[in-house]
Amino acid sequence: MGGWTCPCAGSLEGAMQRFYIGGYAQQIRRTPLAAPDTNNDPSIFSPRTSIEQVEEGDVLAPKFGADGLIPVVTTDAKSGEVLMHGYMNEEALRRTMETGQAHYYSRSRQALWHKGASSGLFQHLVEMRIDDDQDAVWLAVRVDGGASCHVGYRSCFYRTVPFGKPGPVKLTFTESEKVFDPKEVYGDAPNPTKL
Ligand SMILES: [Zn+2]
Repeated sequence: MGGWTCPCAGSLEGAMQRFYIGGYAQQIRRTPLAAPDTNNDPSIFSPRTSIEQVEEGDVLAPKFGADGLIPVVTTDAKSGEVLMHGYMNEEALRRTMETGQAHYYSRSRQALWHKGASSGLFQHLVEMRIDDDQDAVWLAVRVDGGASCHVGYRSCFYRTVPFGKPGPVKLTFTESEKVFDPKEVYGDAPNPTKL
């Protein structure tokens, strides 16, 4: 399949970057999920002190779950299309805010995940919002390469589920072709989807 290819594919720089990211991910993996980050800048997150402060205030007081994670929905800043749903731990949220590029926490890999580090499909923040009770994040992004899904589609939500009809459920694909070929982009890297 033609189409989009990773700009770093084949280059020494790309290989070194992948090597570096791999080592970095392992370093993160050794850190317990909810462990306090000693490098935390206390000016970014505020403690949650009252419902009024959380709902009506102007401080960022995010609520991370018992697993240390906050859910994130990511949309295309131009089209409004929902691209993906993921999670962030404190460090991912902090790095997203510092760099302007989406960072998540991969539950399957149990590691900080700089979206695009291995594919080149970086997500650049156009806008970031927090919801009423500050336990969910919305990112509106511009995506390098025009695809956010590791399967190769533009959006992770590339199938519709029928409803209101009896009988066997048959999913319908909303994207007729993939934006990129995952085999070309990821090579032999293990698939993050786990059964
Ligand atoms: Zn996906």
